[in-house]
Amino acid sequence: MASRESAYRDVLGRIEAAEKERAARTGEHRSVRLVAVSKRQSAEAIAALADLGQRDFAENYLQEGMEKQAALAGRRLTWHFIGPIQSNKTRSIAEHFDWVHSVDRIKLIRRLGEQRDPAQNPLNVLLQVNVDDEASKAGASPAEVPALVEEFAGQPTLRLRGLMCIPRPGNTQAFESLAELNAALPRPLPDLSMGMSGDFEAAIAAGSTIVRVGTALFGRRD
Ligand SMILES: *Cc1c(COP(=O)(O)O)cnc(C)c1O
Repeated sequence: MASRESAYRDVLGRIEAAEKERAARTGEHRSVRLVAVSKRQSAEAIAALADLGQRDFAENYLQEGMEKQAALAGRRLTWHFIGPIQSNKTRSIAEHFDWVHSVDRIKLIRRLGEQRDPAQNPLNVLLQVNVDDEASKAGASPAEVPALVEEFAGQPTLRLRGLMCIPRPGNTQAFESLAELNAALPRPLPDLSMGMSGDFEAAIAAGSTIVRVGTALFGRRD
């Protein structure tokens, strides 16, 4: 694999080109946030990317993520939780993360809302929606989304930012479906977290504002 710096510059360049291409087509410019997915990568690898200017990092497993946060505590990094959430783990997520992308049921919204310290900035939340795979259990169904959105009205410690999806590889139509679902809400949400190493340009073309990229930045995971 090319050096870390050239991989990073390459991903940033491809994001910028996809943003411009969409802006030219739709007349609407959105800047896309790159979240570096650091699961199964070392704290040293994260530090090296942070030295190049990357700020947002995402973890899938709580224990692993918290160990890396402790190792990198001196740096001002923004941490995203993107893995499946067991309800007994919400407290640690509420205490240690800035964003959580994988909220898919009312119980999690209530627990995170109670457990987030009001002295902290609100926890940024994305609702994970299952837009393409009926066999998968992760993610709310599109029909459940309006009720989940309403649940945030009474949650001052949470800030609902948008929707997230993890479609099957190759199913870029799912990105359009998530964007349409958002546009059909009474008040569309500002963010769509969609797109990974293999498909982030297609996701940006469909309106993604947050891409979650691991392999294209760090190389293959062990
Ligand atoms: C691992 C993971 C990613 C990153 O996948 P890559 O293909 O390595 O870019 C993005 N989102 C989620 C939810 C993941 O679990």
